[in-house]
Amino acid sequence: MYLRLFSIFLVLGLSTILAQKPKVKQDRLENRIFELAKFGLQENGETERVAFSDADAAAQKWVVQTLKGLGLDVHIDFAGNIIGKRGGGNTSLKPISFGSHIDRVPNGGNYDGCVGSMASLEVLEVLNENQIVTKHPLEIIIFSNEEGGVMGSRAIAGHLGKDAFKVVNSTGYSMGEGIMRLGGDTTRIAEVARKKDEIAAFLELHIEQGGTLEKENIQIGIVAGIVGLKWWEVEFTGFANHAGTTPMNARQDALLAAAKFIVAVNEITNSFEGAQVGTVGKIQAEPGAPNVIPGKVITSLEIRDLSSKVIEKVYEAIKTKGEEIAKGSNVQIEFRPLDTTADPAIMTTSIQDEIATSAELLGLSTKRMPSGAGHDAQDMALIAPTGMIFVPSKGGISHSPKEFTSAEDMANGANVLLHTILALDKKLD
Ligand SMILES: [Zn+2]
Repeated sequence: MYLRLFSIFLVLGLSTILAQKPKVKQDRLENRIFELAKFGLQENGETERVAFSDADAAAQKWVVQTLKGLGLDVHIDFAGNIIGKRGGGNTSLKPISFGSHIDRVPNGGNYDGCVGSMASLEVLEVLNENQIVTKHPLEIIIFSNEEGGVMGSRAIAGHLGKDAFKVVNSTGYSMGEGIMRLGGDTTRIAEVARKKDEIAAFLELHIEQGGTLEKENIQIGIVAGIVGLKWWEVEFTGFANHAGTTPMNARQDALLAAAKFIVAVNEITNSFEGAQVGTVGKIQAEPGAPNVIPGKVITSLEIRDLSSKVIEKVYEAIKTKGEEIAKGSNVQIEFRPLDTTADPAIMTTSIQDEIATSAELLGLSTKRMPSGAGHDAQDMALIAPTGMIFVPSKGGISHSPKEFTSAEDMANGANVLLHTILALDKKLD
């Protein structure tokens, strides 16, 4: 008898706990990923949906329709972002915003950006089903052209320069033409910018695009920050001369100096404590003939880290070593900074903590980690308290048709997104 009563209480207790904890529907979320992948589906079974393409525009329309079906107030802003609003109980509060992107790199996969976007739709649907009205208004943002330079989020953060409009992507359309194609208006782009503190908080769920979570068997990554990145062009000038008649001790071999430099970039980057990365990814030798000593070489140099100071420190050490190598090789070296820098973006600590608590309450394992890739959250962090949730990428593969995240992992991430939104709704003013 006692046992029976106890089990009734247990069942009641469990159902109360479950009632307090709405969950996303894993199958519905996975199906939306498949539905989205139909926009741009090719004969080989892979999808192409670069920003501004017909497929991108069609997918945008489908998302707008879906959001309207969920009862949201939806519009396309002047930068081509999809903005969907769901009213809150207290009209004086600022919105809690969340979202990601649905455009893809050429030859990309079905999960980058799409997981965060479809999970955001799922969160809204679950709130509807459970008749939950948040205090804060909620706002879903599906950013335009993330892969071509975080265009939509830059516009919202108020620093999308007019020069960017000229950049042409693989569709053949320029960014300016693309904005118009997506229903935006380049002449009114400034109106898209939000002031600091207009948004209570911003959250983005995304696939990790690396292999750390899978390797360490962790379900949820809490992004501590998005690394900054700096690029340089490094030029070595020696003297192009006859490879047969010039003795070994009389050469000014620019390629030999560059080779030593490439090894040094790796060694120096590794010599500091921390997670910084340094890469030489490109090399060009002139005149480029087997029987001529290379007289000129240009290489790239890229350094990434969560701290601008660390990037600077690693660069200074590499520069000093490069000059030493050049001197020893009897060649000139010149470092030219390229205008492609992105500053590191630190995710708001209190939001990281809220993501951690939500994941723990859901029984999910977590790890705080940097993001080595850029995201819309990077620009949103300039104007709003921001947090990012990562879910595992199979084999650490991304920007490839082989990209994969399991339905279970996507649902875990969506549940963390949902409960972080609910927790922030309770805590934030
Ligand atoms: Zn992405």
